Amino acid sequence: MRRTLVAGNWKMHKTVREAVALAHALAQRSTEFPAAVDVAVCPPFTALEAVGHRLRECPRIALGAQNMHWENHGPFTGEISPVMLADLEVRYVIVGHSERRMYCGEMDEACAKKVRAALAHGIVPILAVGETLAEKETGLTLDVVRRQTRAGFSAVTAAELAHVVLAYEPVWAIGTGRSDDPTNANATMQAIRESLAGLSDVPILYGGSVKPENMEAFAAMPNVDGALVGGASLDADSFTEIVRGARVVAR
Ligand code: PEP
Repeated sequence: MRRTLVAGNWKMHKTVREAVALAHALAQRSTEFPAAVDVAVCPPFTALEAVGHRLRECPRIALGAQNMHWENHGPFTGEISPVMLADLEVRYVIVGHSERRMYCGEMDEACAKKVRAALAHGIVPILAVGETLAEKETGLTLDVVRRQTRAGFSAVTAAELAHVVLAYEPVWAIGTGRSDDPTNANATMQAIRESLAGLSDVPILYGGSVKPENMEAFAAMPNVDGALVGGASLDADSFTEIVRGARVVAR
């Protein structure tokens, strides 16, 4: 049975004080979270320690990071290592978010190293895959998501697949207010699941303009095991509504 996860990606938003205030508001609302839905928030690095400290009293909300380097330490100016994340009791790390692929040159090979490093430190990687609008319009969606999935997990053993999460995030749907059609996303996610042996038990999240109004329609899809949420995770009310909507309904 796959677990359902809703993870909030706070991106480059929130000062430490603002981040702690949001974590506090979410902790207070966490009694409304359905028991079957795991919840995580991924604040910016600067707020990880303070948010982690606040969430120590709220085990319903796990701490995630938005990125990390694959090396434990060394001359990598500006980078954060898995050792540092593990030290802060970070449970999840997003790997290969499309904004990092687009703006920071994060390639499949780096994603594979990050996935490996996360697993080695007991951190669950959330590997993000998804096609751009141009790739969608030229019929390349399935080629792209299959390639990114196989490459990202190329150094993972079959047993380790029990500790990974995937996120299907069509790039054209991220931050645009234009989410994918749930049936369409489900079909792409089915193809992702079939792209590599052993993915049948791996949770796959949908990401791309998830809101309180559309979460239930995605949650009703057999391949959707939750959501990776950007903009709508920055507000405690909307994120709580999304978590409530992500409960597994009769499929
Ligand atoms: C994201 O950043 O992963 C994302 C899905 O953003 P949004 O929900 O704002 O589209």
